[in-house]
Amino acid sequence: MSSDCIFCKIVAGSIPSQKLYEDDDVIVFNDIKPISKVHFLIVPKLHVESLASCEVQHQALLGKMLLLAPKLAKEQGLAGFRTMINTGREGGQEVFHIHVHVFGGGEKLPRI
Ligand code: AMP
Ligand code: ZN
Repeated sequence: MSSDCIFCKIVAGSIPSQKLYEDDDVIVFNDIKPISKVHFLIVPKLHVESLASCEVQHQALLGKMLLLAPKLAKEQGLAGFRTMINTGREGGQEVFHIHVHVFGGGEKLPRI
């Protein structure tokens, strides 16, 4: 837990979120500024800054986060979706608590 981290505050329940899923290791909630009809974030309860600060001890957690993506996307009615992990300021990361974006729905997503 990092006291000035917004996602740690969501994990602790001190900031509200539209929660889609929770277990001992992860929490999943809707992005507050969705870029598609469906857009949620898969967030570990453990405070890890970014993908660049992950080590081998985080391997199982990262695998769990990725495996949740198709399961929850299907539950949200998505036939296809995109996953994104922004890493570092230059990679577009704004919240420095690792998270996987999952989004889709509506128009076919543009080629990146
Ligand atoms: P990133 O740029 O990858 O760090 O993405 C951070 C994401 O967190 C952005 O898409 C924000 O819209 C989202 N976000 C920030 N604050 C909240 C919040 N309180 N609840 C839900 N999503 C949030
Ligand atoms: Zn945090």
